[in-house]
Amino acid sequence: MTGKNAVVFIDNKKEMLADVSDKIWGYAEVGLQEHKSAKLLADILAEYGFKVDYGVAGMPTAFVATWGEGQPKIGFLAEYDALPHLSQRPITYREPLIEDAPGHGCGHNLYGAGVLGAVLGLQAEMKADQLAGSIVFFGCPAEETLVGKVFMAREGLFNDLDLALTWHPSQLNTTWSGSSNAMNSVKFNFHGRTAHAAGDPHNGRSALDAVELMNIGVNYLREHVIPDARMHYVITNGGGEPNVVPDKAQVWYYVRAPRRQDVDEIFQRVVRIAEGATLMTDTSMDYQIIAAAYNYLPNDIISKVMLQSLKELGAPDWSEDDIAFARELTDTFKDMKEKTLRSYNSYERYKDVYLHNEVIDPIDKGKTMAGSTDVADVSWISPTGQLTTACIALGTPGHSWQFVSCSGMSIGHKGMILAAKAMAVTGSKLLRNPELVAEARAEFKAKTKDSPYKCALPAAAQPPLDQLPDHSH
Ligand SMILES: [Zn+2]
Repeated sequence: MTGKNAVVFIDNKKEMLADVSDKIWGYAEVGLQEHKSAKLLADILAEYGFKVDYGVAGMPTAFVATWGEGQPKIGFLAEYDALPHLSQRPITYREPLIEDAPGHGCGHNLYGAGVLGAVLGLQAEMKADQLAGSIVFFGCPAEETLVGKVFMAREGLFNDLDLALTWHPSQLNTTWSGSSNAMNSVKFNFHGRTAHAAGDPHNGRSALDAVELMNIGVNYLREHVIPDARMHYVITNGGGEPNVVPDKAQVWYYVRAPRRQDVDEIFQRVVRIAEGATLMTDTSMDYQIIAAAYNYLPNDIISKVMLQSLKELGAPDWSEDDIAFARELTDTFKDMKEKTLRSYNSYERYKDVYLHNEVIDPIDKGKTMAGSTDVADVSWISPTGQLTTACIALGTPGHSWQFVSCSGMSIGHKGMILAAKAMAVTGSKLLRNPELVAEARAEFKAKTKDSPYKCALPAAAQPPLDQLPDHSH
């Protein structure tokens, strides 16, 4: 099979890769704070002869590691950020490892280690067969807040790639062929005037009133935007005490829709509602765009090569212990499993299956997932392929302690090793068949010719290094 040297290499490094994954799992660092995780990956890449450029695009935990020469140039996207409050032991009942600490509820520890395996495997394959081309490992921080890749994209770091490959830990072994919602993450700050809330409220101008009126306005807007749009908010500052009219208040919004243009249009309407709230309350307002991501643009050619590679390798070889673990864990989210599987039209098929045991054709073709990812921005700059492997029990909710649990034990390890192999094999096929790269690029050009990528971040936006992310895709 094509990619045999890569597969043998990854098999030989299985324990090292699981160890890297477990270390990142243990560090559990949230976005832009992933100092130990990023360094661990970058140091190993340097050991293997990659040229590492550390701290790129204004983010200390973002890096680019390159090996090889000339074309084609294949980029591999890696993530390693954790989620707040999800700390969990790798067991089948809820018990935090460290109370209230972050945890890898999206499996990005596996994500980073899997991409490491893929590039080292492909490097071994290229050395063995003297294949020309270069591989670039992108260490992308803060995916959960849609920050890392968007700032890296604005810096032009993906511009000279021929194509990009990545994966995501999942419950299914397949490829990602659908889209994701584009999104703006925006903080609205209202400014009023303090006063004693009982003594002289007539002198006060409440910034909190403005926030509440803005939210009411947006809730009325819902009926008059496309049904696929999503608008959600949290009040991040609602004042101090009831007896002080708040002169400062803040509300944080996510606005999502299936196309970048839809988000731009709806967002302008949300801004006008915020302005309306200032008129009603005699306050003022400014806003800060924290993140702005595109919708994901799938590439059918790369997806096809990835799927074929996954099929050649086959689903992970689950042990009886793995299955027993997944079965026990399933008891904690049984009702959710049914709903998830019904949405996949796979309920009957997988009702009594606990770990995905086959490789299937994509189930999301032509669909848009409601969530967002910053991989999407890369997909508008370079043809991008993304596969998924089973790293969690079937039906496991996203961003959950159950996800953290599977990400830190053999189920996650096995899915990660399969992903590493499938990406390396895909890379090998693409390097050996320049016509595939040309076809993928032609598809990409046709899909983007009318709307070339234009980073949606304002020119002045800076990576939010001082903010601990508390919300995620
Ligand atoms: Zn994720």
